Amino acid sequence: MAANSAALAASSAFPRVPDVEAFDTRAIQQLDAAHYLHPFTDHAALRDKGVRVIVRAQGVYLWDSEGRQVIDGMSGLWCVNAGYGRTSISEAVYRQMETLPFYNSFFNTTNVPAVRLAAELVDLAPPQFSHVFFTGSGSEANDTIVRMVRRYWDLMGQPQRTVIVSRHNAYHGSTMAGASLGGMAGMHAQGGLPIPDIVHIGQPNYAEHGQGMSENEFGLRAAGWLEEQILASGPERVAAFIGEPVQGAGGVIIPPQTYWPEVQRICDKYGILLVADEVICGFGRLGTWFGSELMGMRPDLISFAKGVTSGYVPLGGVLVGKRVAHALVEKGGDFNHGFTYSGHPVACAAALENLRILREERLVEKVALETGPHLKAAFAELAAHPLVGHAETCGMVAGLNLVRRKGSGPHDCVRFDRDLHVGMLCRGHMFDNGVIMRAVGDRMIVAPPLVMTKLEIDEMAERIWDCLDLTLADLYQRGWV
Ligand SMILES: *Cc1c(COP(=O)(O)O)cnc(C)c1O
Repeated sequence: MAANSAALAASSAFPRVPDVEAFDTRAIQQLDAAHYLHPFTDHAALRDKGVRVIVRAQGVYLWDSEGRQVIDGMSGLWCVNAGYGRTSISEAVYRQMETLPFYNSFFNTTNVPAVRLAAELVDLAPPQFSHVFFTGSGSEANDTIVRMVRRYWDLMGQPQRTVIVSRHNAYHGSTMAGASLGGMAGMHAQGGLPIPDIVHIGQPNYAEHGQGMSENEFGLRAAGWLEEQILASGPERVAAFIGEPVQGAGGVIIPPQTYWPEVQRICDKYGILLVADEVICGFGRLGTWFGSELMGMRPDLISFAKGVTSGYVPLGGVLVGKRVAHALVEKGGDFNHGFTYSGHPVACAAALENLRILREERLVEKVALETGPHLKAAFAELAAHPLVGHAETCGMVAGLNLVRRKGSGPHDCVRFDRDLHVGMLCRGHMFDNGVIMRAVGDRMIVAPPLVMTKLEIDEMAERIWDCLDLTLADLYQRGWV
């Protein structure tokens, strides 16, 4: 633990947790294997390998129960935008728990943090937004959207408009509606999904589908799939289109510049609602408060979660634009929907303090002007590695493709056989050598905390390069390259 303690001692803002608590890693692993079902996990494989136990964090670093330090390239799970160890968030949460730990918003009541947060979010959001519906997570936010969109068209006297168009390989959460909106085949295969009247079109993935076209030509082509789907479903039946400004869990798919403006034009042409799932892109990830602003979208609804509290406490919600809010408020009647924890005062207090930090430290502007461009430069250098086909970044998300043989662009690389799971192999080397990067197929992705400094970006990139070397050596040994 010596190096670990020294690192902790060097960070003055870290007196809260005893720094030499002894963890019996084996015992925790055994208990974990015996009792804890993890999300998206092959438990037999995990039991054999042994789970890694994360015990504390500070800034952009994590420490495991063996005292090893790891640089967190994934912000926990795309959410710890303000970084770890923010005492002011813990204090805001503590104060709120002492004052009012819980009260509901159902029976003509409200609470102060929820009201203040709703007003603050509307203030930060693009001008067409006027209201907020709170949930406990991003999945619940997207469930809310399915019901709200259909309720809207009921109120507008067009109840036959029930079809929601989404995209293959999208991720919109894990509840029945969230997983249905999502386009993950593996999720649809379990539990009888998608639910009725949710359809999927192709994703704007230039590397995958854009052969023979310029990026901008492909963007228009991919947006055109929406119009084809609207015509196939019947324009009078289509309620909404939903998409992440930049697809996250699908592998950091950054669409061509022409894509979203053309999607917006098509939505306007047929009068259908546009929904932006900003669970990842919101709160500074792309260098704007919301990814829609960067992408030239004018959404009617926005789902958010993750970065709104930097993950310190669960919170999600739906930002509701005036078009839908007007119908819900003025055309009246109950919207028979809501959660015990809608507008949870403690979660809202955490969000208010988190947003104060993002504003006061100008983290969104920093991503746009400083750290985002630095990450772009670092990934451009990583693209020179013999194992890397191409790399892209947008704000503080980045992805690079592992390939067997490099080419001059994304369309003439020689890929690895899918079944070799080279991405997972690479992820293992990263994990074992102090950097967390996620694998989506053979695409390796990061979404670092927005507080990551240029120096820390350099350190992360160096570790990534070294781990790419280790992966390449491993592949040679296996005879796969
Ligand atoms: C994580 C995520 C969700 C689901 O949020 P949960 O809080 O895990 O329910 C939805 N949409 C996107 C784009 C996400 O990344």
